[in-house]
Amino acid sequence: MRPRILTGDTPTGRLHVGHWVGSLENRVRLQDEYDCYFLIANMHAFTTRADKPDEIRRDTIEIVKDWLAVGMDPERATFVLQTEIPAIAELTWLLAMLLPFNRVMRNPTLKEEIAAKGLGDQYSFGFPLYAVGQCADILAFRADLVPVGDDQLAHLEMCREVARRFDHQYCGVPTTTDDADYAKAGGVFPIPQPKVGRVARLVGTDGVNKMSKSLGNAIFLSDEAKEIQKKTGKIFTGRQSATEPGDPKNALFEFVNAFIPDEARRAELAAIYARGEIGDGTVKQEVAAAIDALVAPMRERRRGFDGPAGEARIVEMLHAHAAKANAVAEETLAMAKAAMKLDFGPRKLSF
Ligand code: ATP
Ligand code: MG
Repeated sequence: MRPRILTGDTPTGRLHVGHWVGSLENRVRLQDEYDCYFLIANMHAFTTRADKPDEIRRDTIEIVKDWLAVGMDPERATFVLQTEIPAIAELTWLLAMLLPFNRVMRNPTLKEEIAAKGLGDQYSFGFPLYAVGQCADILAFRADLVPVGDDQLAHLEMCREVARRFDHQYCGVPTTTDDADYAKAGGVFPIPQPKVGRVARLVGTDGVNKMSKSLGNAIFLSDEAKEIQKKTGKIFTGRQSATEPGDPKNALFEFVNAFIPDEARRAELAAIYARGEIGDGTVKQEVAAAIDALVAPMRERRRGFDGPAGEARIVEMLHAHAAKANAVAEETLAMAKAAMKLDFGPRKLSF
């Protein structure tokens, strides 16, 4: 049996080049080596956009188009639509009991999101709950590996903690057990490991925040060449002129390093930039061309799923995959409930 991967995206907009370097690239590469479950966190999209069901529905389909466009393969991996998997919601409740409220609220990723998205103190009760829900997503599939960007590491640490606690408390796994041996020691949940991508955290075109689909600072995988040029043109560096010595550690160079494939060219650009021999505009054009070369074939594949026929195929596929995903998640839930002495007879979902 191959080890399992669980990872995914929230349908809060289309996927961007930060997703590619942070997580998608690894997903595509690991599809044969691992039994992969890729999840669309559509329930979690409601935690900040409960008033926008139409948008969430549209973004759910758009994300699957992005997945297909980058080469995530429904013949090899299972695509999981979160709201079709009841065991995840049930598991969220069970795990919520094992996590102190203050522990969840201390999570730095949540705090950062509250600030960056301007949620103030008016966010929904469901908003912090999504962090617990994410533990349930991962654990429902008893995943071994989770390919993510570094903003997710705090969430994953919490997931590892709650998995250990469950296995100690309900399965008698000794607290001295090595993370790698929890399942062997009788735990329901293996302790999942993060796998951070080639670029752990790509900055956005604002030059400050993490590139995020909901912050208006993203270059999307589906952007046309012109749009890509316009957006790279806006990357903020604060540099005043082309002759001013530039800082090859600035936001623009994060893009150079992430997207210009030729290592010698990257080194050359950094050197002449530091000496004030090249303008930001020229570097930006080169970055735009490199990004366009990366996403052009994705854009092309994506077009094959545009329109009502393509979208109907996606809905059909999600429904078919839900059956396979539920088989695994129901098995996990039954194991967890048995460990908690909540086993009062079998049940079967029909689809
Ligand atoms: P939102 O603004 O709605 O939170 P997002 O752009 O942060 O959207 P998510 O769906 O939260 O995207 O994240 C999906 C995956 O992509 C996660 O594994 C996350 O770590 C990774 N990721 C997101 N943004 C970046 C980035 N800028 N650099 C590297 N990885 C990223
Ligand atoms: Mg995010």
